[in-house]
Formats: sequence, structure tokens, C-alpha cells
Amino acid sequence: MEKSISLNKQILIGTAIGIIIGYILNIIGTDTSSASSILYFADIIGSLFISILKMILIPLVFTSITVGIANLQAHSQMNRIWKLALIYFLSTTSLSIIVGLVIVNVFKPGQGLEITLFQDAMDSFEIQSMGLSEFIKTFIAGLFINPIKAMAEAKILPTVIFAIFFGIAVIISGEKANRVKELLIELFEIVMLLVTWIMKIAPLGIMALLIKLVAIQDIEVLSQLGIFISVVLLGTLFHGIIDLPILLKVFTGIGPKRLFAGISKALITAFSTSSSSATLPITMECVEKNLEVDKDIAGFVLPLGATANMDGTALYEAMAALFIANIVGIDLNVVQQIVVFFMAIIAAVGAPGIPSAGMVTMVMVLQSVGLPAEGIAILLPIDRFLDAFRTTVNVEGDAIGSCIISTIIMKSKE
Ligand code: ASP
Repeated sequence: MEKSISLNKQILIGTAIGIIIGYILNIIGTDTSSASSILYFADIIGSLFISILKMILIPLVFTSITVGIANLQAHSQMNRIWKLALIYFLSTTSLSIIVGLVIVNVFKPGQGLEITLFQDAMDSFEIQSMGLSEFIKTFIAGLFINPIKAMAEAKILPTVIFAIFFGIAVIISGEKANRVKELLIELFEIVMLLVTWIMKIAPLGIMALLIKLVAIQDIEVLSQLGIFISVVLLGTLFHGIIDLPILLKVFTGIGPKRLFAGISKALITAFSTSSSSATLPITMECVEKNLEVDKDIAGFVLPLGATANMDGTALYEAMAALFIANIVGIDLNVVQQIVVFFMAIIAAVGAPGIPSAGMVTMVMVLQSVGLPAEGIAILLPIDRFLDAFRTTVNVEGDAIGSCIISTIIMKSKE
């Protein structure tokens, strides 16, 4: 217990130092040799931290899902968990989009902004066109691929799918596969031990990532799009601080204090890495140890959620589409906004849990209602900044989902 408190404190100190140094670098500029060397080392340490998290990701996803399925089948709860996860993912993602659409309709960011301000960026932007049908085709084709290739390329979704099939096959094999099952359980425990080691360097990694994140923000661009940024933050924080904690309280009785204290390491890591996938090992550790989520349920719900459940991304995609519509002077009617709603769900499910993934799938949302894909060029300079916030809410949504599902399942077993 004492150890985990001290790690929490170390992470908070790392966060504070990272933000302060980053801010100083931002003000004095990164041209001087000492500033550029700080940035250089921050870059190396930050990338190293992300690489180490990614190193453990695939072994963790594979073993946690297979072990989770093997044990869940033993409780014969698998069917319910599937359905509950699906219901939770869809309902919270929808709720977040509704919050985003309401806020953007009230504040109307982008109206009156001069499109000529962004003309250069839009002119030099190359569209990677992706219609809905093409997107669905590529998405489905990417689900079932050679598992070795998927693992080697750190593709989470096909790895999750292979692990589900593998886990089910282990169960059906019964006695014959006992040794494989035991082996997987041992492997999973070893991987989780590695995660606790990785946690020890988290304060340093987070500090380095934050130095870089804050140092390279272009304050001028941020202030130019200040209203849009504020409105996005309002929606994202509303969902993260009000909606999701209320759901958690209603379904589990866990209050916001325990929630945020319990998953703070995961949230800070999500903020500094902008990657739900890279954060997954830490999310898993946090919910199991601090929120007492059943290990098998967390092992199943979290990897799936890290790639398929992205409330922050969905909310952002919807808000950004309406913002671009406002800038180019197109008024999207209710039907078009409903199209945006559904497309934002698909785009969020389809986006992998990596930095700026939402930007790629956003092209599809824009094109679905006839908005210019070049509009993305306006958002690119501020994406790294907003990505930090939406990824944090994405991870929070996954953690809360695992907690709610675990509570429902455990209660029904009593
Ligand atoms: N960076 C986000 C995540 O990893 C995805 C996105 O919205 O770009 O959850």
C-alpha cells in the first residue's frame, strides 16, 4: 500500500515538473542549445517509455483475453459479459456524442471565423479519401489476419479476435488442453509482473512526454481556435467528470474520489501518451488493484475497450464535423446531424488506440455529410493537444465499463 502511494506521488511530481519545464521551454523557445538538448532527451526518454509499454502490450492482450475467456467460461458468464460490454460501449459512446452535439449547437464554434485564415493549410492538404463502404471493407478485412502478423505489427483488434477464438478452443478441448490453460495462466501472471516493473519508470516517462507535449504547442494557433478548443474541452470534461462517474456511482456505488484516485496513473499515462493501447497495461493494473475489478472481466473488457470504446474520440469527431460545417458556412440539418452521430460511432470504433487515429477516421465522417475533407488541415495543428484529453476520457470509459460489468456479474453470482 505504502509503495503504491509513493508511486502515485512520484507520478504527480513527474507530471508537475513535466508541465512546468515544458511551459518554460515553450516561452523561451527551443532554439537555444540547452533548451534543444532538454527537448532531445525528453524525446528519447518519452519514446523509450512508449516503446516499453508497447513491448508488453501484445503478450498482455493475448494472455489476458485467453485466460479471461477460459476462466469466464468456468463461471459460464461469457455470454452476459459480451452483451453487457456491447451495451455499455454503445450507450456511453452515444451519450458522449449527444453531449458533443448539444454543446456545439449551443455555442456554434467556427461561425464567423474567416476560412481564408486556413486557406494555405487546406490547399496543401492531401486527402486520403475514405468513403464509408471502403472503410467498412478495409475494417472487416483487417479483423481476421494471420495472428503472427497481427502481433508483429501490434494490431490489437485482430489479436483480440484470435485470442477469443483461441480461448474458446481451449475451453472446448477441456481436459486435453489443461496444460495449455495452465501455461497461459502462468504467462499472464508473469506479464503482469513485468507491468509492475514498467510502472516504476512511469514517473520519468510521463515527465518526459509532458515536457515535449507542452514545449511544442503553438500558443498562437491554439488561441486562434480558442473557442473551438474550449467547447471541445467542455464536452470532453463534462462526459469525463459528470456522465461517466454518475454511471459508475449508480451501477457500483463507487464515488468519484475513489474512481479518480484508483485510476489516476492510467489517466495521466493516457494524457501523456495519447494512446489507449499503450496505456492498457497500466489501466489493467489500476482497475484490478484499486477498483477490485474481477481479473478475468478486466482482462476481457479492457483490451476490447481500448480499441472499440472511445467516448472522447466519438465526441470529438462529431463536434469537429459541425465545427468545420460552421467554418465553411454549411448548416447541417437534423437528419445530417443524425448521420454524423452514427458515423462518429463507426469512426470511433474503427480508430485504433494510437495517437491521432481519430483524425484519420474523421475524413469519413466529414465526407458522409458532404463536408470538405481538407477541413482536417485546420484541426491538425491542435490535434496533439486535444488528443491528450480525448484519450484520457477514452481510457476512463474503459476502466468504468470494466468496473460496472464486473459489479453486475458478481452481484448476479451471489
Ligand atoms: N488517441 C486516441 C486513443 O488512443 C484515439 C484518437 O482519438 O485519436 O484513444
